[in-house]
Amino acid sequence: MTIARNAGRSRGPKLSFEFFPPRSEEAKQQLGETIDTLAAYRPDFVSVTYGAGGSTRGPTLATISRILSDTALPAAAHLTCVGATKAEVRAVVDEFRAAGVRHFVALRGDPAGGIGAAYEPTPGGYANAAELVAGLKAIADFEISVSAYPEKHPESHDVAADIDMLKRKVDAGATRALTQFFFDNDLYARYRDRVRAAGIEIPIVPGILPVHNLGQVQKFAGLCGASVPQWLADRLEPLADRAEERAAVAVELAARQVDGLIALGVDEFHFYTMNRSALVASVLDRVGLRPEQDVERARAEGAAA
Ligand code: FAD
Repeated sequence: MTIARNAGRSRGPKLSFEFFPPRSEEAKQQLGETIDTLAAYRPDFVSVTYGAGGSTRGPTLATISRILSDTALPAAAHLTCVGATKAEVRAVVDEFRAAGVRHFVALRGDPAGGIGAAYEPTPGGYANAAELVAGLKAIADFEISVSAYPEKHPESHDVAADIDMLKRKVDAGATRALTQFFFDNDLYARYRDRVRAAGIEIPIVPGILPVHNLGQVQKFAGLCGASVPQWLADRLEPLADRAEERAAVAVELAARQVDGLIALGVDEFHFYTMNRSALVASVLDRVGLRPEQDVERARAEGAAA
């Protein structure tokens, strides 16, 4: 990784990029290259996921430490509380804090039996993400982001219960919600309206997933309660054996989604990168969010003034 200075964008929507800890030397190398490429887009922060039950504690910490030492990007650590006592969570937080982490994406995590299994709070642990947010805030004045589900979390009885949990997380100190991925902007718009009607004012940052692998996305969407519209499958399925055309269509669809969200007033985006830069970078180029495009736009505006 090379040093990326000037984190954060001076103009235009804010950006963040999500990575997961690499599982091999080759994957580590690829992630380094991905971060180098995406750093040029000046994200406000990048985040690294954390395996439920602490399964990636070491790799998450190693990845975060590397980003913090090798780049100037602010890095947020995802943290789940499932399967851990409060003391165990505290030990992880202390470790991350010592490495320089000041921002957590605080999550409950999926049940030990996997998505869809019944969730059992751990005795002596935090029962849900709202309790975790309060616990983190009691340790230090961390910046805290949390999850949000435009199509509701699969365990929630209804959207109202989901929004009630979001409110509890905000009341406990969360200042940003990152959404589960979705492909239909109307779902986001309706969800945001209901969130605002509930008196929640924090940014509801859309999670954008450019589709690398339709089958994988459909499988994961089925598990986490997100929907993959038929029109999206109809565009990508016929291109299963034509990687280049498939990537071009995936970029076009994600760029159109981002443009649509900007038209809805969204000014902050979280990208699920899958540790790869090509699609995300192309989407950002397409919608005019490359930093040089900011400069070009500023020049054009200056000339027009
Ligand atoms: P919460 O906010 O506590 O709850 C989510 C919803 O479920 C709430 O609406 C609540 O009403 C409902 N609910 C919770 N518990 C119950 C219950 N017992 N009965 C009925 N309803 C209930 N997972 C990882 O393992 N690692 C990660 O790094 C990670 N990163 C993520 C990042 C983002 C942006 C998102 C959106 C999700 C991420 N997840 C991650 C997935 C997340 O851990 C799961 O969706 C998990 O099932 C819920 O965690 P949460 O923090 O959203 O839960």
